[in-house]
Amino acid sequence: MARERLMDRDQRYTTGRRRLVEVLAGTGAPVTLPALLALAPDLSQSSAYRNLALMEEAGVVRRLVHGAEHAHYELAEDLTEHHHHLICEECGLITDITLDAALERSLDRAFDGLAEAAGFSPRHHALDVFGRCANCGADA
Ligand SMILES: [Zn+2]
Ligand SMILES: [Zn+2]
Repeated sequence: MARERLMDRDQRYTTGRRRLVEVLAGTGAPVTLPALLALAPDLSQSSAYRNLALMEEAGVVRRLVHGAEHAHYELAEDLTEHHHHLICEECGLITDITLDAALERSLDRAFDGLAEAAGFSPRHHALDVFGRCANCGADA
């Protein structure tokens, strides 16, 4: 999948890009570039950064920016599975959460109704929850 998307853009699925996809597939949560490089010390920061930007454009990688110091990266949702995020406003930690299918269907129904009323054609939704992670505490 990642390979096809890059080839559609005349981009090769190079060893460096394949490594990034492998690492992102293995983390189980969005990661920052420094965290990614800590997991894959064989990658250089400049080429990792360049390859992430290129793969973001090709729809392989999704970049999450939430005012944290560093952007977080994850594989595009249609290469993994639909999910939401818990975002810690204190330390920037992002955790994936998955709602059950019945809840997703009723969310989509609700959004579809609102979108239709506005003459809008909905394609997908994104919902994230902001607050404090267990580590940062409820009322630090
Ligand atoms: Zn935190
Ligand atoms: Zn959802």
